[in-house]
Amino acid sequence: MEGLEAELARARELDVNAIADAIESIGFECTRCGGCCTADEAEGGTTEDGPLEPHTATVFPDEIRRLQSDGDYDFRDVARPMPYGLTEGADGLEGETFEWALQTDDCGNCTFYTEDVDGVGTCTVHEERPLICQTYPFSVALGGTSQPMGGVVEQKGTVRAHECEGLGREIARDDAEELAETLKERAIRELEEAIAVRERYVPLDSDDVVVYDSEGPKRIDGTAYETGDRASGS
Ligand code: SF4
Repeated sequence: MEGLEAELARARELDVNAIADAIESIGFECTRCGGCCTADEAEGGTTEDGPLEPHTATVFPDEIRRLQSDGDYDFRDVARPMPYGLTEGADGLEGETFEWALQTDDCGNCTFYTEDVDGVGTCTVHEERPLICQTYPFSVALGGTSQPMGGVVEQKGTVRAHECEGLGREIARDDAEELAETLKERAIRELEEAIAVRERYVPLDSDDVVVYDSEGPKRIDGTAYETGDRASGS
């Protein structure tokens, strides 16, 4: 066993108590600053220097469907293709990419993020938010898992902490254990997705955007390509 399968086996063996210990010792409390839901100043510069890097967080096909049904949204209200590998052509986006990101608004923020007049942020789909949002600012150091936008600032064992102003604050043991359970679930899920993406990958011959996810190749609106669209010889 090697590669993603080996990492998946390691993810399934992760010790939730050890993860909770790491989270407890790093410390975390959400301050609702919106830093993990908005365009990234560190990557893209300030508004005076140019556009910010749009918020980019992985969302899986079943998470997209859950978000769609939560608010009766269209697919493209919820998700956009991961930008890596795509270019802006004369008629819009071109190229192929892997997986989906949460849709962004005109400011590059997550489409589900709102802020009150005092700058306190709210996720309008809090109960249905994707696993990567439920577990920010943490990730596990396993190959093949998704890493959030914020850089790694601390690591204890397999637990990584990413840039977040809420780090270092006291966290109750129960909350640390709940977060640890979800972090393990997320690591397993990400590796299962990565394996499914690889297994369902069939190169397509298309002039349109192709997004390869764990359910096969799809168009920008989330509809599946037909078998007949596949490149000859595959
Ligand atoms: S879904 Fe919610 S928690 Fe996740 S990035 Fe968007 S606003 Fe933030």
